[in-house]
Amino acid sequence: MRHYRRLPWEQLRDLCRIDGSHSTLAISADILIIGCAIAGAILWLPWWCYPAVLVVLGSRQQGLIVLMHEAAHGKLFRNRRWNDFTGEVILAWPLFISMFSYRANHCAHHRHMNTELDPDWVRYLTPEADERQNWTYSRTQAQVLWPLLKDLLGFGTLSQIKRVIRLAKPRNHDPRRNSPEADRAAELRFGRYPAAAVWVFRLALAITLTVTHAWLAFLLYWVVPALTMLKMCTRLRLLAGHFAVFGGEGIRTTLSSPFEKFLLAPHNIGYHVEHHLYPAVYFSRLPELHSELVARGDYDGSLPFRLTHGYRGLIADWSRTAEAQRATQQDVRKMANSQV
Ligand SMILES: [Zn+2]
Repeated sequence: MRHYRRLPWEQLRDLCRIDGSHSTLAISADILIIGCAIAGAILWLPWWCYPAVLVVLGSRQQGLIVLMHEAAHGKLFRNRRWNDFTGEVILAWPLFISMFSYRANHCAHHRHMNTELDPDWVRYLTPEADERQNWTYSRTQAQVLWPLLKDLLGFGTLSQIKRVIRLAKPRNHDPRRNSPEADRAAELRFGRYPAAAVWVFRLALAITLTVTHAWLAFLLYWVVPALTMLKMCTRLRLLAGHFAVFGGEGIRTTLSSPFEKFLLAPHNIGYHVEHHLYPAVYFSRLPELHSELVARGDYDGSLPFRLTHGYRGLIADWSRTAEAQRATQQDVRKMANSQV
């Protein structure tokens, strides 16, 4: 990034150190909360607590996905095989996704951020992208909140399932490189387990659910949260990081309260400016890195970094961005009219 002054190497090396025991604790905590929430819902809680349980479960599923993101960067464990096994089998497969496919997408996203080679940018912001209007946010607060509410209520489930199936193949992460050869190239570069392995995993899951008569519980406490709360959290996370930031050309860090962190921004995923500047920094050290960047004045406005406080601030920020965009468009029209 132009005019950006990098941190000293010694300081960075310390921030990049992987703490495997912290990673284990983070994964275990998310799984434990999921287990407790499901057990509580089945054994003790009245049926009307189900929406609250669903919110907790979806938020922890996002926690697991954020940790899968760390594994895709190779930053969960120092041992690469264990890192990849955990990312793929423990964190990705239970949610019917692949860390290896995600890694192919995510490396291109980091390398070509906010350009036509960035798969996320292409997927959501090109003129032919589905739902483009929901990602540009030149809109009112109600219009900003509506797509999030629709996610939470489970609208668009069929298209979500289709998207998950499509994105299992690395080539479909980038619509411009979707020849079958792209899968092979991605496998060689980013790794992949044999296709048979994932089917053995799914078969074992199906047998376990059948033997334990747990299909309904699986649907209610795993599939439904993934198609509602997790879907909303994913949209919010993507929007917060890159979209509606200076017309789609910047990055945003969203600082949040402990409650917001638990529900919406687990494992420091809100520190998105810091993550993009230094993707090798270990996720638990991102707040330290953030303090360093603030102290250096990196958020003083000379760089395309935006700092937003809280998720209410984020919604307001999107609307302000929208107002700024509308104002700019009006200025352009006024200038054009005055020149006629
Ligand atoms: Zn990343």
